Amino acid sequence: MSDFPTKARVVIIGGGAVGASSLYHLCKAGWTDCVLLEKNELTAGSTWHAAGNVPTFSSSWSIMNMQRYSAELYRGLGEAVDYPMNYHVTGSVRLAHTQERLQEFQRVVGMGRYQGMDLKILTPDEIKSVYPFLETHDLVGALYDPYDGDIDPAQLTQALAKGARQMGARIERFCPATGVRRDGEEWVVSTPKGDIRCEIVVNAAGYYAREVGKWFGRDLPMMVMSHQYMLFDTVPELETWTKDVGHKLPLLRDVDSSYYLRQEKNGFNLGPYEQNCKAHWVTKDDPFPEDFSFQLFPDDLERLEWHIADAMARVPLLEKAGLSKVINGPIPYTPDGNPLIGPMPGVPNAFEACVFTFGICQAGGAGKVLAEWITQGATEWDMWSCDPRRFTGFEDQDYCVKKGMEVYGHEYGIHFPHHAWPEGRDKKLSAVHDRTKALGAQFGAYNGWERALWYARPGDDTSEAGTQTWKREGAWFGAVKAECEAVRDAAGILDLPGFSRFLISGAGATAWLSRQITGKVPSVGRLGLAYFADDKGRIVTEMSVARLADDELLLISAATAQIHDRDWLLNHLDAGLHLVDQTTEWSTQILTGPKSRDILAAVSDADLAKGWLTLQTATIAGAEVRLMRVSFAGELGWEIHSKTGDTARVWDAVVAAGAPLGLKPFGMFALNSLRVEKGYRAWKGDLSTDYTVLQGGLERFVDWAKPEFRGKAALAAEKQAGVSKRFCTLVIDAGDFDPPYMSTIWHDGKVVGEVTSGYYGHRVGACIGLGMLRADLNVPGTVVEVEIFGTSHRAVVQDDAPLWDTKNERIRA
Ligand SMILES: Cc1cc2nc3c(=O)[nH]c(=O)nc-3n(C[C@H](O)[C@H](O)[C@H](O)COP(=O)(O)OP(=O)(O)OC[C@H]3O[C@@H](n4cnc5c(N)ncnc54)[C@H](O)[C@@H]3O)c2cc1C
Repeated sequence: MSDFPTKARVVIIGGGAVGASSLYHLCKAGWTDCVLLEKNELTAGSTWHAAGNVPTFSSSWSIMNMQRYSAELYRGLGEAVDYPMNYHVTGSVRLAHTQERLQEFQRVVGMGRYQGMDLKILTPDEIKSVYPFLETHDLVGALYDPYDGDIDPAQLTQALAKGARQMGARIERFCPATGVRRDGEEWVVSTPKGDIRCEIVVNAAGYYAREVGKWFGRDLPMMVMSHQYMLFDTVPELETWTKDVGHKLPLLRDVDSSYYLRQEKNGFNLGPYEQNCKAHWVTKDDPFPEDFSFQLFPDDLERLEWHIADAMARVPLLEKAGLSKVINGPIPYTPDGNPLIGPMPGVPNAFEACVFTFGICQAGGAGKVLAEWITQGATEWDMWSCDPRRFTGFEDQDYCVKKGMEVYGHEYGIHFPHHAWPEGRDKKLSAVHDRTKALGAQFGAYNGWERALWYARPGDDTSEAGTQTWKREGAWFGAVKAECEAVRDAAGILDLPGFSRFLISGAGATAWLSRQITGKVPSVGRLGLAYFADDKGRIVTEMSVARLADDELLLISAATAQIHDRDWLLNHLDAGLHLVDQTTEWSTQILTGPKSRDILAAVSDADLAKGWLTLQTATIAGAEVRLMRVSFAGELGWEIHSKTGDTARVWDAVVAAGAPLGLKPFGMFALNSLRVEKGYRAWKGDLSTDYTVLQGGLERFVDWAKPEFRGKAALAAEKQAGVSKRFCTLVIDAGDFDPPYMSTIWHDGKVVGEVTSGYYGHRVGACIGLGMLRADLNVPGTVVEVEIFGTSHRAVVQDDAPLWDTKNERIRA
């Protein structure tokens, strides 16, 4: 007992694969004064019974990065820590039943190549050569991933733990954390063996993370599914074949039928993700257990019958195998299926690394990411996809359960760019939701807020199936074109509930903001775009700043950025300044187009001669509103900001006045088209910590004359050395498909950049790519190629100016 550590720099709660990897990576970063607490034996949570598949495949760039890193780490880990492990790199074959699925694979092949991986597309004949026992008559192809394989999850965890111990970390097994409290600048973590005082705490408690989160005042957005795999006995033919060829079959994923099938010794392991799935620990008669260490749920094969039959038809050899064992274990899900890795929202010196659905293949990368968050305050790769702050608190249990089940049932589903998943909707409705719905709005959720994506016209296909395509010209296309044309020729109105908004006030607020952003703070009564950089000069966030008074600033940013931006501001706020989150008190409509001045003149008392980037208070339909002269659509326009109680009558008045002038409602798809024509960047697509402010082409928002701002030294050094790659606008001969995020840009047989936004511009009549390009090629007129779903398309680099209204005359009209 006397040996029990009473002080540590970091305490990690949870000894699964992720907790162990976090400890290992903290030690690798030199932070060895760390303690991991495990209530039972290491791996007692989800880790011990995991199947241990280690894919690199992901349609998300950052998740692929994390999984690629894991696979690389695992290949050398046994030797590095002297702990031999069962890690079989068998490769995998992922089947495509449809052309659309094959396109998903082609995109991933492109991303993989950019990350240094040689993934391949196989024809049905080629599939047979790597997987001879397969029925291929109905397949269009497959993806071959030579890096895929399986690892023993318990051995992986023990190896990471051993490595951490060797570097000096402590692991306390059979030692549950029972609570935490804040004492001054320290955390005190209680255990039955005594308290541990520490600087930083990490919640790595797997499916128990919600319970641990409560100690910090958190209501973690998560739920728990039951997930099964079945082990089948030896099949003599498979045994003979394996002996003959000297290796195992590659892991098979029939993603359109939603299961994986792996060779396990000389038998099989079949693991389905079934749509008639089951959540656990949700209802009163199935309460969350105090302890579930090393336990399983009862087998439930009825749910899997369809998949078993399908797998047997696909690999008839499976019919000959006897079922020997079923594993049915708990697996936690967030509402989007990605884990929580990063700072705990609103809580100082606390982090999360939990709710992993694929925690074996992600543990390596997750440990690296978490250690970077803790030791450097920032990560090498932009990890917004896993950032706990992407959830903003509206995600109640009902929502978490519905979304978790939906994600599980579509674990292998394709994420098409115009498709909105149907569960967990209508959580936050605009004051004019019924009105926009009546006008034909087809909605998508942004931080829970329902916003119109497009407005269907009579006869337009509004089915969910109609949006499940990669094609540019889907059911929405004609309607979106008409919306863009209305904005161009007359006016459009976009209802935009949910902007994040923070009012910052107090003596010195403006001087403070000036130190936070790269550019100038606007003068009173004016607006400006502001970029917040980190110490490395990378783009943390973008906000619109409205200077209401000398030291009163309204900061407005993306709906999904609410918690991220609030935490960032609060963490850097000077004593004596006040921040009020006004997100839910106000709402916004964008009124834009050449007739927008006439429309506003008919309903408001505003001074409409006031120029671009001005701000004023005016009255519409008896309601006091703020008019901001900006337009993300790139036409003459105003944002109308109204108190949510007034929004409906403001909307009614504007829409009525606009009708005779050709005013049309427009949606987010049209806004995307309009903004790429102007080169306006989107947060966490074009703007992320993967790029510096200079790479983002945002130097006009850098005020070098200011004595200080965060990131200045790094940006000055980068400027001096020369920026290696820089934001570009491309016009692409794209054919039928716009380039998805992270489509690669080629020149002379080399990858020289990537597309971060690709969309069709209806005003210019072309497919536009915004992206990053090697600086020496970023010269107007240079011809490059963009790889879209495996095919090269000619693209031409444009001037560093908007494609539409190049001189910004329309917005300043
Ligand atoms: C049937 C099945 C198959 C799977 N197959 C795969 C696969 O092939 N590949 C893959 O990548 N993933 C797979 N998974 C998912 C994988 O198991 C999990 O994502 C992973 O194990 C999560 O690891 P973790 O460390 O986050 O959590 P866990 O392994 O659950 O670890 C959390 C630990 O925290 C401990 N703990 C909780 N509360 C406290 C406390 N108060 N104090 C101290 N300790 C505490 C628990 O005892 C537990 O050991 C599978 C899951 C299931 C159910």
